[in-house]
Amino acid sequence: MKIVNDYHMHTKLSPCSGDQEATIENFVKVLAAKGFKSICITDHYWTLPENIWENKPNFKGPFPETLKQILENKKMVESTDFPLKVLIGAEIETYSPDCIGGTLELKEMLDVVLLPTDHFHLTSIIQQPEDHSFAGWGKHMMKFFIAGAKSRVGHVLAHPFIPMGEHHDKPREVLDTVSDAEFFDALSIANEYGNAIEINSGCLVSPEYYESLIRPFTIAKKAGCKFTVGSDTHRLATLDRYDIIAQFCSECGITEDDFSDIMIR
Ligand SMILES: [Zn+2]
Ligand SMILES: [Zn+2]
Repeated sequence: MKIVNDYHMHTKLSPCSGDQEATIENFVKVLAAKGFKSICITDHYWTLPENIWENKPNFKGPFPETLKQILENKKMVESTDFPLKVLIGAEIETYSPDCIGGTLELKEMLDVVLLPTDHFHLTSIIQQPEDHSFAGWGKHMMKFFIAGAKSRVGHVLAHPFIPMGEHHDKPREVLDTVSDAEFFDALSIANEYGNAIEINSGCLVSPEYYESLIRPFTIAKKAGCKFTVGSDTHRLATLDRYDIIAQFCSECGITEDDFSDIMIR
């Protein structure tokens, strides 16, 4: 398998990038030379629940200017003749199972919306579990995943089953508390509601995450899910993490036929 798509890329527009070289033009230059067919730029932008400013006075969220820039990028790529197809999307947010920072209108406006359901490290805005045990985190993570899947506000569920936050260094301990049947049911729901599942090489470069994710992704294939691939790069220098995706797919029995039609190949 040769990876020819990257559908999770942050430019300098994402505040967590900090790399002035992380531009659409530079990404295209590097990946066109590698024979890539299409990429999707997914800077962070999400809608804000009412009252979040009152509850979280120190929280710096995405601003309307960010969306304005994303839409300008979309116009720009649509009128530019790049050597590969460039799509413009965004990575939105899940605050809690009842509150997702995205809308169907936003989904309509963009090519691909990534919905992460596990940014638990953002403790000031993302609901934390009441039960802090591994099993408590496992339940919490699955609840977020299913709510995100049912919301339909994203095209792709980004980097699923990564217990970011409190136990980020113990993914196996958390994932071991979720049974095969629970993964199968959740992934079947994700598929039924039309969500693709992301294979994220930024996560796979960690040996603990790589090992822990083989079981749920093998189950995802059995549940009939379709997949997208992305590096989650925030910098120009990290556009070299694609072989690990091919290796991971082969371990999980995922082939190119399992890739979502959203990825132009
Ligand atoms: Zn993310
Ligand atoms: Zn990201």
